[in-house]
Amino acid sequence: MKINLFGLPLSKMTEEFVSRGQTKFRAKQIFQWIYQKRVLDFEAMTDVSKAFRAELSRDFCLDLPKVFTRQDSEDGTVKLLLELEDGAKVETVLMPYSYGNAVCVSSQVGCNMGCAFCASGLLKRDRNLTPAEMVGEVMAINAILAETNQTVTHIDVMGTGEPFDNFDNVMDFLDIANEPFGLAIGARHITVSTCGLVPGIKKYGLDKRQFNLALSLHAPNDEIRREIMPVARAYPIDELLDALAEYQENGGRRVTLEYIMLRGLNDTKEACDELASAIKRHKVFALVNLIPYNEVKEKPYRRSDRDQVRFFADRLQKQGINATIRKEFGSDIDAACGQLRVKMKKKEGEQDA
Ligand code: SF4
Repeated sequence: MKINLFGLPLSKMTEEFVSRGQTKFRAKQIFQWIYQKRVLDFEAMTDVSKAFRAELSRDFCLDLPKVFTRQDSEDGTVKLLLELEDGAKVETVLMPYSYGNAVCVSSQVGCNMGCAFCASGLLKRDRNLTPAEMVGEVMAINAILAETNQTVTHIDVMGTGEPFDNFDNVMDFLDIANEPFGLAIGARHITVSTCGLVPGIKKYGLDKRQFNLALSLHAPNDEIRREIMPVARAYPIDELLDALAEYQENGGRRVTLEYIMLRGLNDTKEACDELASAIKRHKVFALVNLIPYNEVKEKPYRRSDRDQVRFFADRLQKQGINATIRKEFGSDIDAACGQLRVKMKKKEGEQDA
């Protein structure tokens, strides 16, 4: 089996090439060819010796996922369904912000976390994504942006899957993303979002990398959280917020608390006050990011009214908690995370039947 070079961080590629008698610099050269000059043909890498080019062609490959479906929104959002080598499909989304181009990256094929409001969780996890496949998600978006001389500037590992359930592969991917010779995305522009695996948060806190952390909290108390997120049965809110406080003591920066606004469930005045007091009680330095819900046909939850979202944000601010309302993307396409993949799977099922 050939090794896909898109899956090797610079340190691992250097180790691999040095073990083959190459200089340490060789891996940097290859990084520049594939990520900066976007040359994927070993034969065109003219500053590499002919003999090593032949070795590269024999033992390595540069495989990227294929674009299976593409949806373009009027607001500039692009949603791709990518087909991987084994036929599995994953979603990746380009979100154009005023400050740059963010990609929402999936970390697994399907997800086992079972959040009750989420389309991605409708399809259980088949497998983890490899570092090369996650790099492939960013490369696919970069190929689109190249048409307008732009590149991806921000990465949110917030698509389908739980990143801390695929920790090592996600970290290898992010090392490639963060590498100046690689995708060259600054650590401060990279965010990993967990649904709340406390051991993962602790491990991440002890890691030397300087990426951001987001937690999908979505509820002000355990009762509501258990109703919508099964992970809450293993890790209560107190334990979760303590883990965040510990993460910050270890040098972690401000944490983003993601909070999907669900009408009548977690968007009330009482919920707001309870959330503010939990954050203050645990002394977590946090930004609450209120997310207008993209309704999923198969799910019973409804989106909160716009006024209620504004009210919730203002009330948090008045209690000294930083809060923002997330910009909505792609409301004219299958905006909810995982929706496009679920739709495609259903179609395939109908054709097979
Ligand atoms: S919200 Fe995230 S963690 Fe929860 S089921 Fe969906 S993809 Fe998985």
